[in-house]
Amino acid sequence: MTVTVLAGATVVTMDAARRVLPDGAVAFSGDGILAVGPSSVVREQFPDADVVSCTGQLVLPGFINTHTHLFQTLLKGLGDDRVLSDWFTSMTGPSAVQLTQEDCYAGALHGCAEALTTGTTTLLDFMYVHPRAGLGDAVAQAMADIGIRGVMARGYMTAGADVGVPGPLVQPLEDALADAARLIDRWNRPRSRVTVGLAPCMSWSVDRDTLVETRRLADATGALVTMHLSESPFDVQESVRRFGSRDVPFAADSGLLGPDLPAAHCVQVDDDDLDLLANTDTKVSHNPCSNLYLGSGFAPVPAMQRRGITVGLASDGPASSSNHSMLQAMKFAALLHKGVHRDPEIMTAEKALEMATIDGARALGLSDTIGSLEVGKRADVVVLDMTNFCVTPVHAAVSSLVYSQRGDEVDRVYVDGRAVVRNRSLVTVEEASVRSQSIAAAQGLARRAGTDHFAHREWRSLVSR
Ligand SMILES: [Zn+2]
Repeated sequence: MTVTVLAGATVVTMDAARRVLPDGAVAFSGDGILAVGPSSVVREQFPDADVVSCTGQLVLPGFINTHTHLFQTLLKGLGDDRVLSDWFTSMTGPSAVQLTQEDCYAGALHGCAEALTTGTTTLLDFMYVHPRAGLGDAVAQAMADIGIRGVMARGYMTAGADVGVPGPLVQPLEDALADAARLIDRWNRPRSRVTVGLAPCMSWSVDRDTLVETRRLADATGALVTMHLSESPFDVQESVRRFGSRDVPFAADSGLLGPDLPAAHCVQVDDDDLDLLANTDTKVSHNPCSNLYLGSGFAPVPAMQRRGITVGLASDGPASSSNHSMLQAMKFAALLHKGVHRDPEIMTAEKALEMATIDGARALGLSDTIGSLEVGKRADVVVLDMTNFCVTPVHAAVSSLVYSQRGDEVDRVYVDGRAVVRNRSLVTVEEASVRSQSIAAAQGLARRAGTDHFAHREWRSLVSR
């Protein structure tokens, strides 16, 4: 089998010692990494290898996006300047009601294209809207076709009509779980690159049975579970009103929390919530761009990390962050916590990169196979060109990566050892056709949903209060 050696790069391994190799190389064959070390040593080890010269480039493990909604790729720019509950009931919900399989496939393919060309090799898609059959299948198929690694978490809303969840999005629990079980049976095989998880949506769109039965199915199948928790004040207030407790204790009491659950957001958590998350080894997915966009607040990430909670990083759906760039998410994460705490030491560039790689792998239960460049792990590798005006001169590779990048540095991407991006272009799909299909789908969807007026709004530069 052909061995590929990426040589002459600055290799940021993210291994346990956090080695950074100034003239390093990574060798891989099939889907696995064979060697990581100084270029001269690795090249000597594999004299017949196909050598790719990476001088002036950075080689990293692919980024891991622990929370997004690929269908929202079609909704960019329509949800500006709204609080979460209004954003959902007036724009995202009505759009979701109109989704077809073709829309979901086109949006997911475009979203994965964004992800791959900005260095993400794994993403968790939280697919919670199913107004008609087959939408989850379309998203999983797009992930498989473009060659990204991913979990399509089959979501559901089993309540919430009283607070504005559109009727067609509310599903009977048995129907939702039957569809999830069917998808798990179809996709979750040993060494599958695309798998299926379970995703009860948020406190105001589920009941207790939904969480109890979700835990039962997760335990029976080994499928990953995820849920939005304490994203906005409304999540917490509604949980108290419906169930008599905040949403983190509600999820804990229902037996849902556990090491196989990355909880999205956890912005509004209090100390007791953090204790519950820590004691159950529940993971957290931090979405700084989305939390800022929706004005949800600031997740207490340093406090989580001090308690030993694993926190992965994420973009969230493009209806509330406007893209899938983990490069942006890293920069926002680092800067946000420095600003909030008025402490420049509290979140370093290195910590942001850990959250985007090895901590994200832990959050998804995949740290044995991805998240760092180590022998035996899967060859999910990103090569970034660090020669443009924004990033040069490079004194410290990780600092330049997190703070100076302009977002178009990704030159090559390998997933399972397969080249998916080469010379900054996708090789598994026709880029122009991915774009034109998603643009057509986005325009059709906005017309059908009656949300196109959000795009044709008046110029808004007023300070509202
Ligand atoms: Zn979300």
